[in-house]
Amino acid sequence: MTATVSKIIWLAFGLVWFGLRLHPGRRSRKTPVRYSARGAREFALLGASLTGLGIVPGVYLAIHFPRFADYPVVPVLSYLGISVDVACLWLFHRTHGDLGQNWSVSLDLRERHTLVTTGVYAMVRHPMYSGFWLMAVAQVLLLPNWVAGAAGLIGFGILFFGRVRREENMMIAAFGEEYRSYMRRTARVIPWIY
Ligand code: SAH
Repeated sequence: MTATVSKIIWLAFGLVWFGLRLHPGRRSRKTPVRYSARGAREFALLGASLTGLGIVPGVYLAIHFPRFADYPVVPVLSYLGISVDVACLWLFHRTHGDLGQNWSVSLDLRERHTLVTTGVYAMVRHPMYSGFWLMAVAQVLLLPNWVAGAAGLIGFGILFFGRVRREENMMIAAFGEEYRSYMRRTARVIPWIY
């Protein structure tokens, strides 16, 4: 395992993830929205996540910046990164299947929005965010550079902590006791723990 191979693997997983999102993205644009909490705040949060998970590591791959933050590749970490990324893609595939037309990249409620509490949504309330955390951890493990590696955790962390409570409040406003009782029996992103 060399640094180049590890970087190519990170990129390949990114492309597969992008491919997985194409169909849900197309479907989402066609599904009418009845309420949206989009705005400057959501735009900034999405920007932070995109920067950490895409732009910073992308620049590192393209022009090897910032070189000073490199460290030697540790093969066992790269292999671990591959396993984490496989789990991440599986989770994304399942969340899109379970959430169906209710999915959106930001905070929206669809015209015929239903509350999903089955499938991977029976394990945690935010399995897609669990998937993004796995993606960020895989980035640390696959990219032998302190800045490019850690950027995903920071960028997605900003989105997650800046959004999750608002999202839950939006779901409570829409589904009331049904969502409250879902919250009582289901953890946020790590089954039984958090
Ligand atoms: N936070 C979820 C979903 C992310 S997509 C996850 O991590 O899996 C964001 C959209 O999903 C939000 O606009 C919200 O309307 C919708 N959503 C979140 N949880 C939902 C649920 N349990 N059932 C249906 N829609 C949900």
